Amino acid sequence: MDKGLKTIEPIVQLKGVQKSYRLGQTMVTALRGIDLKINKGEFTAVVGASGSGKSTLLNMIGCIDQPDSGSIQFDSVEVTKLADDDLSRLRNRKIGFIFQSFNLIPVLSVEENVELPLLINSDINPAQRAERVANAIADVGLESLKRNLPDQLSGGQRQRVAIARALAGSPDLVLADEPTANLDSTNSHKIIDLMLELNARRKVTFLFSTHDEALMGRVSRLVHIQDGVMKL
Ligand code: ADP
Ligand code: MG
Repeated sequence: MDKGLKTIEPIVQLKGVQKSYRLGQTMVTALRGIDLKINKGEFTAVVGASGSGKSTLLNMIGCIDQPDSGSIQFDSVEVTKLADDDLSRLRNRKIGFIFQSFNLIPVLSVEENVELPLLINSDINPAQRAERVANAIADVGLESLKRNLPDQLSGGQRQRVAIARALAGSPDLVLADEPTANLDSTNSHKIIDLMLELNARRKVTFLFSTHDEALMGRVSRLVHIQDGVMKL
């Protein structure tokens, strides 16, 4: 390959992904054949109304749940064929998650929340762990609050902790499922600003979902989902 040519490498590639849920006697189809490619370094928003399939899609990509059919390649590995323990390993080492409701542990400090996912990664020793935690907390500007508990923080600050926790593992992809849905408009924009900055400065690949039209203009790549299908 030519030196100096910037290569575009996919981090995740979906082909024909379908997923249904059983709801009592009926089946609800959440995804009806999704094709999607996310390249390393991209900042992409999945936009769609409530119930369109955004969370299901992010859960498939994040290996939280498996599709009924179709293919998902993560870093060229077909994840639909992986055993449970390989899936959890991939999830822990390569993917960071940010949720709408922050999902912080209330009895742990900011620092301890950020450290938690690193404790199950035996490749990281305590000194490296401490360094990663400190760097991630600095990246989201929360050094002065690192000993606080989540309920001593505002919503925007809590979501910063969740972003730090997602970044601390140096993931190849960060998935954020409606990260601003529980925030007011000022804080929503601040969280998007922070994610954009981390994308530009630290080359973090982000895929986030939103139904908030005010945020759509901020993002370089939008993909639209409607009733479990990608729309142009
Ligand atoms: P969004 O995140 O865009 O709101 P979801 O992926 O949560 O959409 O849901 C897509 C569709 O799948 C909806 O019709 C929803 O009701 C259904 N669904 C999602 N999760 C489940 C579940 N665990 N059991 C049954 N139906 C579900
Ligand atoms: Mg959702």
